[in-house]
Amino acid sequence: MSVSELASAIVESPTLRLNEEARLLRERGEPVIHLGIGEPKNKTPITAILSSAAKLSQGDVKYCPSDGLPSLKKAIIRYTEEAYDKVVAPENVIVSSGAKQALFNILYTILNPQDEVVILAPYWVSYPEMVKMVYGVPVVVTPEDGSFHPRMADIERAVSSSTKALIVNSPNNPSGIVYTEEFIAQIVDFCERRKIYLIMDDIYHKLVFDGRTAPPCYRFTAKDVEDSRLIVVNGIAKLYGMTGFRIGWCVAPRKIVTVINNVQAQTTSCASPVMQAGAEGALLGLQSFVEALRLTIQNNRDVAMRELSSFNGVKTYKPDGTFYCLPDFRAYSSNSVELSSFLLKKALVVTVPGREFGMEGHLRLSFAGTVKDVTEGIARIKWALDPTSPNDIYIGDKRLIRDWL
Ligand code: PMP
Repeated sequence: MSVSELASAIVESPTLRLNEEARLLRERGEPVIHLGIGEPKNKTPITAILSSAAKLSQGDVKYCPSDGLPSLKKAIIRYTEEAYDKVVAPENVIVSSGAKQALFNILYTILNPQDEVVILAPYWVSYPEMVKMVYGVPVVVTPEDGSFHPRMADIERAVSSSTKALIVNSPNNPSGIVYTEEFIAQIVDFCERRKIYLIMDDIYHKLVFDGRTAPPCYRFTAKDVEDSRLIVVNGIAKLYGMTGFRIGWCVAPRKIVTVINNVQAQTTSCASPVMQAGAEGALLGLQSFVEALRLTIQNNRDVAMRELSSFNGVKTYKPDGTFYCLPDFRAYSSNSVELSSFLLKKALVVTVPGREFGMEGHLRLSFAGTVKDVTEGIARIKWALDPTSPNDIYIGDKRLIRDWL
């Protein structure tokens, strides 16, 4: 059967594939620990549940405006003002089925075939694939100093007359780094001067640790949203742990939003109003929920760092935000895909190969799960790799002996 060259060039989402592998192993009764997944264990905020339930119980679930329920857009405008100190109009906001769809729509809207998009490594797996899906060209910039923080000099070298956009994700999936205020200021100025769209994927912007905050891009421009090159993406998936609701949005100049709206109207019509009502309930509910979630994740981060620090040869950047870290496992293997498969087979731990994020030799570990999962998962990895760790381990009720080191 024939499929298009373009579609067949798109790689499978490694995180969703790993979820499926873990699910199948669990179904077979295997005690798999999932350090691959990017979602916290919390329950949905009650205000979100009630709001969705109220919409559903009216028994009148129909299409709604394709740019989103006016009441949700109002809540998003309030959120934007509170979180970014930026007042925007309803025409600057469009709601989509997750931040993922928001990002895809943006790229589809701004790129012509062969336009380039600068992506900063380590990057979220979907960026290069999305750019390719709309016939664009991803240009990856990797910090030459081996760190996770991009440098303006490297970016300036990568930008050409074909560069249409640059994607910044800080706090960053997969490294957990928060880019410095100085860098955000520079990149905003650079993009404004060069007339390049700056897409800020701010999906983790409230999930920052140790009393820090992620510098908001709007602070560094004197321009109104309308005249700026800034496009800010957000959503409820990470903010409230509401991944299954599939609601995200973007804030952009109205000319861009109008075209995104046409694209969305012709493809999905609108995001489900039941789920939009849930998003509205979360945004209008008690925001102490976000802080409680942040504190839980920060504690998990500390546990993960403590466990990893006892690992011979593994170097780790202590995440400033998100629920991921990206330790360097090159002391054990330079092939992260092989290493990740080995760990799943021998230790029943799911990790995501760094290669998928443009950082070969690293593994992404998520600490969004329980403290028990984080502790036990890292202990299992240590047992499988570190010859100085004890030779046997209990996985479930089975005692396993390491016979490969
Ligand atoms: N951007 C980043 C950096 C992400 O990590 C994710 C989810 N893993 C998304 C966007 C997509 O979020 P959503 O679930 O709202 O589509």
